[in-house]
Amino acid sequence: MVKETKFYDLLGVPVDANDAQIKKGYRKQALKFHPDKNPSAEAADKFKELTVAYEVLSDSQKRDIYDQLGEEGLSGGGAGGAGGFGGFGGFGEDIFSQFFGGGASRPRGPQKGRDIKHEMSASLEELYKGRTAKLALNKQVLCKTCEGRGGKEGAVKKCASCNGQGVKFITRQMGPMIQRFQAECDACNGTGDIVDPKDRCKTCNGKKIDNERKILEVHIEPGMKDGQKIVFQGEADQAPGVIPGDVIFVISQRPHKHFERKGDNLYYQAEVDLLSAIAGGEFAIEHVSGEWLKVGIVPGEVISPGMTKVIEGKGMPVQKYGGFGDLIVTFKVNFPTNHFADEESLKKLEEILPPRAKPSFPKSADVEECVMNDYDPAKHSGRQSNGRGASSYDSDDEEQGGAEGVQCASQ
Ligand SMILES: [Zn+2]
Ligand SMILES: [Zn+2]
Repeated sequence: MVKETKFYDLLGVPVDANDAQIKKGYRKQALKFHPDKNPSAEAADKFKELTVAYEVLSDSQKRDIYDQLGEEGLSGGGAGGAGGFGGFGGFGEDIFSQFFGGGASRPRGPQKGRDIKHEMSASLEELYKGRTAKLALNKQVLCKTCEGRGGKEGAVKKCASCNGQGVKFITRQMGPMIQRFQAECDACNGTGDIVDPKDRCKTCNGKKIDNERKILEVHIEPGMKDGQKIVFQGEADQAPGVIPGDVIFVISQRPHKHFERKGDNLYYQAEVDLLSAIAGGEFAIEHVSGEWLKVGIVPGEVISPGMTKVIEGKGMPVQKYGGFGDLIVTFKVNFPTNHFADEESLKKLEEILPPRAKPSFPKSADVEECVMNDYDPAKHSGRQSNGRGASSYDSDDEEQGGAEGVQCASQ
């Protein structure tokens, strides 16, 4: 038998070339003929051939077969390699990616199945205390009768046409592009194997898979956060020759009426009356833990509107590490309404509160006296005319009354 040397010739290397020489040869030729670099149809064909040649010569087992039997030996199934050798094409792009970087190279060995993701809505209270949810999952499993074989043991033969893949890869030249697509194998109708109808599994009818309802217990641990994942490894659909994917629950924290959360801290807006704010008092917080907090404002301490205080250790539990975040409180101070006290009583405030600030004006200033009215958003939005020229921006008149609810009159 005359030794075939076509693959070596393609890569421009001698038949006794070592791995490094083969790699170098492929690299040099592939760069010259890659469809991105050379859009001609001949280059695309050449690139495919080069890649097949490299695929064979870089694999010592396949190279041995090629050296002994030539290309024929490889297509006869003697290569024994995974992925089959259904003619040219199919892997060119992958090899190129492995070589030159860029693009994900397909992993060898069994494929991992798709993960199943579920959103898991949880209230802040649930995330504080933790919760176990039982969820029913309908999933595909390998048929238990035939253990995923599809028929009697030994009766199911791997389809030779597609090498048990159930699909064949077809590579076609579309202009400058090499298009690669999958087609169901017609020899086995996409099942990947050939079985005598009498030996076919009756339970799954040769499909190898069955449906199963499974209950998953999802443990939300105290302190878990929005976006956090709870993973059930390998619980997704099973399929022959595939590593099942994971079932993943992603926590989605529902908004809370009173609390906001940042990390392990909670944020709360407390409302206090003016007397409590300046003379001491207390207020209540209904906490996400389910307990009520009584918070004291000690006499002498002054709470001004918008002020921020912290109650340490009253935030969310810290998952894994233990302990708690803090509760950050901002204040809204509710002032009394108009005429809450008569003039006589108000005078008493002068004895208690710090003295009034007197405004100061430059001596030369032209000072106007102003009176405040109540603000009405419908009237004073500044967008519509209210008869006093709020929208008369084109006017030279400086009087832009109304916008702030303040009217002024010359002294
Ligand atoms: Zn079965
Ligand atoms: Zn087939």
